[in-house]
Amino acid sequence: MITFPVLFINVLSVLMMVLVLLACWRARAKQGAPELFIASIFMVIWAVGSFLELVSISFEVKVLWRNFTQIGVFLTPVAAILFAVSYTGYLVRVKKQLIAILYTYQSIGLLLVLTDYFHHLIRKSIVLVQGERLGAVLVDTTIFGKFLITGNFLLLLVAFFMLLMASLTATKSSKEQIYSVLLGMVIPIIYALLKVISNEQLLQLLPISGVFALSGVFMLLGINRYDLLKIAPLAHQQVFRFLGDGIIICSTNAEVVDANPQAHELLGEQLKTIEQVLKQKVPYWERKVLEGKQTEFELRLGQKSLHADFYPISNDAQEVVGSVTLIKDVTVFRERADWLRSKAEIDALTGLYNRQTFIEKVERELERSFSEVHLLYFDLDHFKLVNDRYGHRAGDLLLAEVGKIAQQPGCVAGRMGGEEFALFSSVHPRQKMEELAEQLRSSVESMVLTQDGVEIRATISAGLASLTNPSFDQIYHLADSLLYQAKREGRNCVRF
Ligand code: GH3
Ligand code: MG
Ligand code: MG
Repeated sequence: MITFPVLFINVLSVLMMVLVLLACWRARAKQGAPELFIASIFMVIWAVGSFLELVSISFEVKVLWRNFTQIGVFLTPVAAILFAVSYTGYLVRVKKQLIAILYTYQSIGLLLVLTDYFHHLIRKSIVLVQGERLGAVLVDTTIFGKFLITGNFLLLLVAFFMLLMASLTATKSSKEQIYSVLLGMVIPIIYALLKVISNEQLLQLLPISGVFALSGVFMLLGINRYDLLKIAPLAHQQVFRFLGDGIIICSTNAEVVDANPQAHELLGEQLKTIEQVLKQKVPYWERKVLEGKQTEFELRLGQKSLHADFYPISNDAQEVVGSVTLIKDVTVFRERADWLRSKAEIDALTGLYNRQTFIEKVERELERSFSEVHLLYFDLDHFKLVNDRYGHRAGDLLLAEVGKIAQQPGCVAGRMGGEEFALFSSVHPRQKMEELAEQLRSSVESMVLTQDGVEIRATISAGLASLTNPSFDQIYHLADSLLYQAKREGRNCVRF
């Protein structure tokens, strides 16, 4: 019954599996390799067990080796699934749970085979069939046993389909890698199927380990020719698809050649639309692409604020072959930053710049202007009395109203302290500022606020300073002393 070809195939498959094992060990640092290494150990156990079963003579020893092969039979499918998880990245978050569940479940089946007490649950009978030279062990499985065997087969199928799914979205070179593994995997699956259909008759013709020889060839082919365990291409692709940022790839002549789903979502459905948006919204974008210089830019699209980082891509010879642009939606950050800035710059009661910001803004304008500039400084008269008579709330109301009046086109307006305000202008002529000062004074004078039926009136005193090329302190002190002059001279007036 055991012929030379059968023996030869067995030895060959054992050798082949050992080679796969070594190749995996060498590549153990790479993702997926440890899992494939473990799978290979189980397949080696399977192949060696089959071989030893074939060459042993006594029935007991044959059964012993047959049972030994079951370690491989039950645990190879688990290792295959875990390999598929590592290789494809699918289900990777529940990998630990998968390891626990699958190994426990399969070990139960394995223990049933290996314990005398439960053995009958799995196997109806196990007999030695005598052949020409050596006998063969024939096992008749129970329904439960068949159920467990089908389970093994299904687990292999799951691993197979995971790889198949990954191949759908893989790049051309990764596809070849995956197909090579799939081929290695599909052979034992088909064999397992045939074995079930033929009720183990096939085992006499071609031992299970025989198919591993073929599987091994394809897996080795994958490892050596297609660099099976090099996960990089797949990883790159997954990053491209699942990264939260938009990724846009351009050729050296500023043509958008690829974009990930996020980039499409942000900038447009077509690659051409994305290209047009970038050309329109970022004036120097095309020039940067053509120059191949790293840069970053901001763009606004409707309500959205986008931040983009642009990187040239070079080949090994340091020639720029294209570019990649990473686009982030920073709307939320921008809004929050704007909100924080306005909180820090704007006085909440009056809506005018606070003292600090007013001084900064004015100093910036002073640096740029060389003609005459004006500072109107004003203070509410006897404001303490307003607070004392009508309460602080009334005082606040008055300050807010004056704040509204103080907002004038062509002027920077600020609340400089409690009830002191300032208006700066580098665009208006002196004449216009004098009119404005008088207009402000009379507006406040004629303003009547009512609170709880009580009328509240107020007046302001103001000083208007006009200087050419002053420092902030110079014009401030002049306006301040003019304001005090106005106070001294009876209030409710402007001094120039
Ligand atoms: P003068 O005509 O000389 O300017 O007299 P005045 O009473 O306006 O001047 P003074 O500087 O003595 O008083 C200013 C008052 O403004 C004192 C303070 O209680 C009040 N004040 C300062 N900030 C606020 C504020 O935010 N709300 C209210 N309601 N009052 C304020
Ligand atoms: Mg006052
Ligand atoms: Mg004051």
